Amino acid sequence: MTPPSPSTVDRYRDLHRHPELAFEEVRTAGIAEAALRAAGYDVTAGIGGTGVVGVLRNGDGPTVLVRADMDGLPVTEETGLEYASTVDGRMHACGHDVHVSTLIGAAEQLAQGRADWSGTLVVLFQPAEEAGGGAQAMLDDGLYERVPVPDVVLGQHVGPAPAGALGAHAGPAFAGASSLDVTVFGRGGHGSRPETTIDPIVLAAAIVMRLQTIVAREVSPQETAVVSIGRISAGTKNNIIPETASLGLTVRAFDEDVRSRVLLAIERIVRAEATASGAPEPRIQYAESFPVLVNDVDATERTNAAFRAAFGDASLLDPGALSGSEDVGLLATAAGAPLVYWILGGADAASWFRAAEARTLDRDVPSNHSPHFAPVLEPTLSRGVEALVTAARTWLD
Ligand SMILES: [Zn+2]
Ligand SMILES: [Zn+2]
Repeated sequence: MTPPSPSTVDRYRDLHRHPELAFEEVRTAGIAEAALRAAGYDVTAGIGGTGVVGVLRNGDGPTVLVRADMDGLPVTEETGLEYASTVDGRMHACGHDVHVSTLIGAAEQLAQGRADWSGTLVVLFQPAEEAGGGAQAMLDDGLYERVPVPDVVLGQHVGPAPAGALGAHAGPAFAGASSLDVTVFGRGGHGSRPETTIDPIVLAAAIVMRLQTIVAREVSPQETAVVSIGRISAGTKNNIIPETASLGLTVRAFDEDVRSRVLLAIERIVRAEATASGAPEPRIQYAESFPVLVNDVDATERTNAAFRAAFGDASLLDPGALSGSEDVGLLATAAGAPLVYWILGGADAASWFRAAEARTLDRDVPSNHSPHFAPVLEPTLSRGVEALVTAARTWLD
């Protein structure tokens, strides 16, 4: 393994110290832009807010787009690392700093080695993956009128697998997700006289319980879906029956048809429970949504084969279908191009294998979004750069 240029590690530490939230990635975008310009890319900044794209035209051949997301999270870091976040309540808890620093490293390497490949390389730094909307914002801002339309879209996400290991799962690889806010309306009154009210808390409770029957009773055992209620709120005082109650839901599925059936079932149950309570029509609002991420089967096999050849069989992992969500697929769908999005291990390998042996991975290996999430610098960063270069060269050679 080639050691990382000191600048990849330095850049990573710097980005980790300075996380920025979705659509506020001004500093991060500036770093990416400067590095791309220095490496000789044609750069367009400010696409979809803070998005930055570098294009390197290098003769005949396919157009390859490689993507990194840039945003951090509203999490207070508890890693105790020397290079921990310096911004209160903000953290690169999903490892997008790994994505940015390794893509800069790969963009530099590919530019330096341009005599060895031919085609067009498009290097894309995307805002706001966490909030959803970043990829769509770039498309809505005319991304593919401003940069070449790719023949393939590539990218990676760091995760709690052993550092050095990597691989893409063919087919549906990340779940589609929908976020819904539900408000039910009752009729408030005195807690001592419930007969004069329509109690929205009892109504909300009935909805919570009944929604659990969707996955259990309406989704086939061959299909998968998740319905979770992560937020519920109502009321101000013990002896007041409030006017309203509100619920926050997330829905995940690996098939768009399953997802739309689950959403219809949610709407049906919410409305029917309101009717059962004699309450007015509830309000159902859709917030962020992510499509199912589908890795193209042929392109995934081709990329995994290149990884196997470059890093050895033992480094290849199949992460399976993950219930997390990602919006990178929109960049591929809009281009009509295949997508390959792989998982890059970032956990200290010795600790990971110890925890796997003890069956305590869930407890002992912090995962993305945890305040303790702390990818080891090496071999994570070197492997991340090599993976991006290897995957891009699979199409550009
Ligand atoms: Zn995340
Ligand atoms: Zn992420």
